[in-house]
Amino acid sequence: MNDIEEQSEEKQLDFIREQIQADLKSGKHDKIVTRFPPEPNGYLHIGHAKSICLNFGVADEFGGECHLRFDDTNPAKEDQEFVDAIQRDVEWLGCDWGEKIYYASDNFDQLYAYAEHLVEAGKAYVDDLNTEQIREYRGTLTEPGKNSPYRDRAIEENLDLLRRMKAGEFEDGSRVLRAKIDMASGNINLRDPVLYRILRAPHPRTGDSWKIYPTYDFAHGQTDAIEGITHSLCTLEFEDHRPLYDWFIENLPVPSKPKQYEFSRLNLGNTVLSKRRLTQLVTEAKVSGWDDPRMPTVSGLRRRGVPPEAIRDFVSRLAISKTEGVVEAAMLDHCIRDYLNEHAVRRMGVLRPLKVVIENYPEGKSEELIAVNHPGNEEAGTRMVPFSREIYVERDDFMEDPPKKFFRLGPGREVRLRFAYFITCTDVIKDEDGEVVELRCTYDPETRGGNAPDGRKVRGTIHWVSADHAIPADINLYEPLFDDPDGGHSENFLENPNLGSVEHLTGCMVEPSMANSTIEATVQFERTGYFSRDEDSDEGHPVFNRTVALRDSWAKVRKKS
Ligand code: ATP
Ligand code: MG
Repeated sequence: MNDIEEQSEEKQLDFIREQIQADLKSGKHDKIVTRFPPEPNGYLHIGHAKSICLNFGVADEFGGECHLRFDDTNPAKEDQEFVDAIQRDVEWLGCDWGEKIYYASDNFDQLYAYAEHLVEAGKAYVDDLNTEQIREYRGTLTEPGKNSPYRDRAIEENLDLLRRMKAGEFEDGSRVLRAKIDMASGNINLRDPVLYRILRAPHPRTGDSWKIYPTYDFAHGQTDAIEGITHSLCTLEFEDHRPLYDWFIENLPVPSKPKQYEFSRLNLGNTVLSKRRLTQLVTEAKVSGWDDPRMPTVSGLRRRGVPPEAIRDFVSRLAISKTEGVVEAAMLDHCIRDYLNEHAVRRMGVLRPLKVVIENYPEGKSEELIAVNHPGNEEAGTRMVPFSREIYVERDDFMEDPPKKFFRLGPGREVRLRFAYFITCTDVIKDEDGEVVELRCTYDPETRGGNAPDGRKVRGTIHWVSADHAIPADINLYEPLFDDPDGGHSENFLENPNLGSVEHLTGCMVEPSMANSTIEATVQFERTGYFSRDEDSDEGHPVFNRTVALRDSWAKVRKKS
């Protein structure tokens, strides 16, 4: 199944935008308010980017606003590092929450007051069953649940127990507060869901104030209501929670009545988008960190050199629908390439250098040649690249015994050096093992700039760098973390032999203009791929990460289908 919508001129509104449009038209709302509600227990990934761009996108399109809300109700797994990383990533994606940054924990007092309200209304009770018993009593999809023996406690007793839970009198996990709804409901979420748990752990924001914490279900909708959210957009796994969401809104004196809408989450082929698994990759050091360039995290993509515009373009092509599908990872690469092809400047870099000595070029001489920064965009301008008697070319651009269709260098063959001269290979120098270590060539001084006055043609054009001027660099060539169909989805994914797929090249040579490149400025090394400087690289010896190769496997996939 494919989850991609081909972009057409008139893009049809998805069901969420249709809903919003209708609600504005009918006067139900004057202004819409959405929110992106990450739990700060990990870094954001490309799936979150879909939700971010949807929430901030509709707010922008319909003149509303979007809040950034940290869903920080479980202090056991949450951390300030994640709060900071999430803000950085959302901002980097180009989304602006203005002053509207919130924490669910800001509402702990109010949420607790709502809990007492339910108790006083006879709609919640303190249960002494333990987690396992609760699960047992809950029943299954085909069998109804059983009432807890504590379900009919008196209101006063419930209130007293709840206050003592709050005061920290009881052991973690010894009691919970549950809503009193219906243990026989066809929807398991309505079988007396848990509202509060005892957890006597400090919270990054509220410190030691709380010994009980609200569950996601109890906190989420009420926080939406407190913030005045009109459209609470979430992924399909919450569809069955909606009746509960509505039940709370109906049964509590909340200041507004938000509505929840569910859309399909992004699933990427061969890619792990589970926070639990991404956490495992990091904590078990299978990757260098959350921002390892192979990670599908926003920070990993950034470090790989993917521009935010490419991510936005990708997620804007995803269907906002009610059907789950899997999008091929090649589609993301396609969007990255598409963007970079248009926007990245061209440079020359030799990944696996082979030295070439141009014998008829004067020793000690060098000259500056004009190189075009972008063949399709004159405004990108030109730069000067130095040329001299010794240059490096790509090892793969030479064959000692080339087949007919190989239009690059071979003994006696003439090629064009990009922006420079025609050269002809006259001699091949090998080491004791028979390995080619150097080529001897001659150049035709009449062909400066890459054209022969006599009109003679060459079939091949190759890239090069001047040996005296080049900057040595390391280059990381990344392959997907998981390149088998299982894509890291099996339980023993950490043992996957394809994990760790990065080829680290040393001794690469790049043109001198790359000396002060930045991580944001992803470039195309001509004929090779797109690269950006790694944020950890030394001034004098840069490290580049391959953002994406030139080859467009998506185009092939598409042709076949
Ligand atoms: P978990 O809840 O298991 O920690 P999560 O990925 O759901 O992980 P949240 O921080 O709860 O993480 O997610 C924040 C928001 O991003 C939620 O509204 C969620 O629905 C949305 N979201 C998460 N994963 C995806 C995805 N793959 N595609 C689209 N939206 C997603
Ligand atoms: Mg979640």
